[in-house]
Amino acid sequence: MKATSACPCEPAHLARVQRRLWMRLLPWLRYYQCEKCHKYQLAKPLTVDNARAIAASERAGVRPAS
Ligand SMILES: [Zn+2]
Repeated sequence: MKATSACPCEPAHLARVQRRLWMRLLPWLRYYQCEKCHKYQLAKPLTVDNARAIAASERAGVRPAS
């Protein structure tokens, strides 16, 4: 299903959007739109949550030495 395949951006860029009716058939997936390339896609919420957590910890933690 081309319309719902993932874009090459980081999952952390995905934002939740309202699901279409037929997506009730796939309750383990959520519908997202990429904030970078604006592509709509289905993804597992855990994948996105993990990616967001990693991105957040990278922003908060590791800083380049000066
Ligand atoms: Zn993207």
